Amino acid sequence: MIEIELPDGSKLVFEDETNVKEIASRIAKSLEKNAVGALFNGEIIDLHTPIVESGKIRILTPKDKESLEILRHSAAHILAKAVKNVYGHDKVKLGIGPATEEGFYYDFDLPVSISEEDLERIEKEMERIVKAKEPFRREKVTREKAKELFKDDPYKLELLESIPEGEEITIYWLGEDFFDLCKGPHVEHAGMVKAFKLLSVAGAYWRGDSRNKMLQRVYGTAFWKKKELDEYLHRLEEAKKRDHRVLGKQLDLFSIYEEAGPGLVFWHPNGAIIRQEIEKWVEEEHKKRGYQRIYTPHIMKADLWKTSGHYSFYRENMFFVPVVEHDEEERLGNDEVPLTKEEVEKAHWYAVKPMNCPGHILIYKSQVRSYRDLPIRFFEFGTVYRYEKSGSLHGLLRVRGFTQDDGHIFCRPDQLKEEIQGVLDYVMELLSTF
Ligand SMILES: [Zn+2]
Ligand SMILES: [Zn+2]
Repeated sequence: MIEIELPDGSKLVFEDETNVKEIASRIAKSLEKNAVGALFNGEIIDLHTPIVESGKIRILTPKDKESLEILRHSAAHILAKAVKNVYGHDKVKLGIGPATEEGFYYDFDLPVSISEEDLERIEKEMERIVKAKEPFRREKVTREKAKELFKDDPYKLELLESIPEGEEITIYWLGEDFFDLCKGPHVEHAGMVKAFKLLSVAGAYWRGDSRNKMLQRVYGTAFWKKKELDEYLHRLEEAKKRDHRVLGKQLDLFSIYEEAGPGLVFWHPNGAIIRQEIEKWVEEEHKKRGYQRIYTPHIMKADLWKTSGHYSFYRENMFFVPVVEHDEEERLGNDEVPLTKEEVEKAHWYAVKPMNCPGHILIYKSQVRSYRDLPIRFFEFGTVYRYEKSGSLHGLLRVRGFTQDDGHIFCRPDQLKEEIQGVLDYVMELLSTF
């Protein structure tokens, strides 16, 4: 017996396996008509996902924000099928295609590169699938059958491998000639995905790992209503005009040079004025809150970072500097290599700081402190460098060098609560001011 609890606390009882469609029809005819899925025990499921255990349910209609995930995940499948139809079913290997906060994407491995112009062609094919109202259909399969179905899809086989033994494996059909390894949720048929748009295409490593192959990720978005889509696209256009990279050029604020290194920012006089104003504000706020300003070095011995733990956990994101005694006379005019192999072997290693914590802790440790001295609040405009992957760099938002208003508080356990409140209070002040 399965007991389903509705949001108002009332309960429906089912003898056997049920699904959202059946539950909705028991509640009201109108709900059955409008339902697109449900939140069941915290998970979004579609109308036909079998419900085999008791739990709490909230039925979703297009009015509920959560229902967008069902729509967008369905749009991703339609995109995948369209790309296969356009480029050839045997030429396209599928990666993953989830719904996201803003829309959906799908990753493809295919011999030709998809250009922005091609998106229109793919959209046309998606529209055809939508017009034909091709149905989504869930099918439970055995692991053996799944292996057979996806034998030409290496990425799907890899995903299949990661499904734990004993867990249910399902595929979703879209029409008669396309299926995807998928847990759902999906709408009943493609005709429900009326308001969608493909937005861009970009490279994305399989499973986000740069050692893997770079796939082509097509981004899009979908809404239940055309009006909502239009509003979203309009907002996107407006945001583009206000993109900080565009403003940075227009207002002569900052620049970044390939020849100097990606992700390293040069502040122009106009940008420096803005930066100084922000620094002044931040400094004032910290003083008000009892922080003392300090300065710490930009490079420190690698061993210090071993003590702090950064070395073992963060090493691949750190810049290292070898320090060697060498005979400069011999090397004059030789620009080939900065160091010989022998010099590298003899080098003492320093690290460029990716964080300021060890420096602040050294200052704290510089004398015996009494519990009566606490809390001690240190604060620094700490310029740090982090080796971010070049693919993730983005204007001023993701860089390899930046200055933090970094603070560290040394306090007693009984002061913790107040100190944390103080930090949150500062963060709120900062966010609401800018
Ligand atoms: Zn799916
Ligand atoms: Zn820190």
